[in-house]
Amino acid sequence: MEEEWYITPIQVRDFIFCPTIFYYKYLVGIMEPKTEAMDEGLREFSKDLERWQERKTLLNQRRIHVDKMLFGYPITCRRYRLRGIVDTIYWSNNRLNVLEIKSSGSTKLYPDHLYQTAVYGLMVEEEFKQTVYKLIIFYKKSNKWFEKRFTNQLREYIEKTIEKVHRTLESGEVPEHRWGKKCVSCFYNKFCY
Ligand code: SF4
Repeated sequence: MEEEWYITPIQVRDFIFCPTIFYYKYLVGIMEPKTEAMDEGLREFSKDLERWQERKTLLNQRRIHVDKMLFGYPITCRRYRLRGIVDTIYWSNNRLNVLEIKSSGSTKLYPDHLYQTAVYGLMVEEEFKQTVYKLIIFYKKSNKWFEKRFTNQLREYIEKTIEKVHRTLESGEVPEHRWGKKCVSCFYNKFCY
């Protein structure tokens, strides 16, 4: 049934980080003990006035003129078969931007956070039929703000990855292991090795 095959931006992010992790989590059903996978649930929790104001203040501090802002915005995207809740969408000088707020204290931009935000970017483009100008990731504890243009190259990479995620879910095939440094601290390494 089509309904079963909607995926989330967090699943795409997991696939980019490691297709094998994705396989164990979403095809075998072995979930890591409570991790950031609860992001989507937390987003629901975040839909309150205080957090809306927090985002307004953040954009003001950055001296960003905001024409309109949406917060905790749910999107179901039929084109890519994606579902998720976008943290913050705002228009500035008629340009559409997607802001993802992470509670961590990272001082560098993690690529998988950028890719996750890019998935939201695709969903937002479909929803509003407007090109997304910038993707922004803000790490709260470190007060670090990273922004990237949503380039065609990034858009195409994300589109191809989404296709691969759907193919993996539909075929049930085990992805090829790509061992690396990240494997040392990976919860799933006992299954991989
Ligand atoms: S041990 Fe490495 S290859 Fe295996 S799931 Fe973890 S990160 Fe992926």
